[in-house]
Amino acid sequence: MPWKGINDPYKIWLSEIILQQTRVEQGLDYYNRFIKVYPDINALAGASDDKVFKLWEGLGYYSRCKNLLATARYISSELNGIFPKTYTEILKLKGIGPYTAAAISSFAFALPYAVVDGNVARVLSRIFGIKISFESTLNKKIFQNLAQSLLDPDFLGHYNQAIMDFGAIVCKPAQPLCAECPFKKNCYAFKNNLIHVLPVKKKKIVLKKRHLNYLLINKGDKVALIKRDEKDIWHQLFEFYLVETDRNISKNQVIEKFCADNQVESANLKILNYSPELFQKLTHQHISCRFIEIKISERLKNSHRFQWVPRSELKKFPFPRIINQYLESL
Ligand code: SF4
Repeated sequence: MPWKGINDPYKIWLSEIILQQTRVEQGLDYYNRFIKVYPDINALAGASDDKVFKLWEGLGYYSRCKNLLATARYISSELNGIFPKTYTEILKLKGIGPYTAAAISSFAFALPYAVVDGNVARVLSRIFGIKISFESTLNKKIFQNLAQSLLDPDFLGHYNQAIMDFGAIVCKPAQPLCAECPFKKNCYAFKNNLIHVLPVKKKKIVLKKRHLNYLLINKGDKVALIKRDEKDIWHQLFEFYLVETDRNISKNQVIEKFCADNQVESANLKILNYSPELFQKLTHQHISCRFIEIKISERLKNSHRFQWVPRSELKKFPFPRIINQYLESL
């Protein structure tokens, strides 16, 4: 991976933020694109929100992108573009928790901080027989303290990288390579036949179901866009006029609601297209989406919320994945 074995805090930080909730295979491509477009922190800090969100599009968890930009701008304007060099200062930056602060401190500045990600927690849980999940802040602290006590002061960066790689390659979640493992004589899970029990699994998440009915309002060659600014998923991304419901409703019901909210006569509106149902699964939510294309000729109430954009320019805007999926299907 291009971020391994380097000591550039900007690149290490960027890779850690991307990988916070993303698999390496998916994150690598995004990392390469970011480095190409924004090779250093000042370049990132000087970019517009929409351009950076467009580059982040599809990675999900958009608060990471918002914090990334805020931190880049803070370092660029307040710290002359120089990344802080101590764990405490790094931990104060937006979007950086104890794990990321430890990773940057250790890899970029060779400071003695143990890095505990999911891979490391699995290794420790199995070897030492730790029967608690790696979920709560309190439990994370227990893992962190143990990892810190094991840190080899002479080989800080190597130690952190080695134990993470060991978890990813040898002590894998399923079918770990115990037969070849140098720890098998001392490993609690191996000796007690608890490999499939440890680490203790996370609680099952109850998915919330959401039904999003989008209206693509066409007027001349333009379409109405709205920027999502509520505290919710897809913050700062763009969308179309939304009617959200807790169950599936018909297209006529969506249109009725739209007409009532915007004081539009349904006779002045023409339906152009009605999409099949599309789905997207997020960590805590199950999204079902339908798109209705309409053409209107009259002015809308509340139209100050809309940004009227030529249809040919839609590609420039960052959208949630499910909206892109619809646009690509046309
Ligand atoms: S013996 Fe198996 S479970 Fe134990 S550390 Fe090695 S690979 Fe992991």
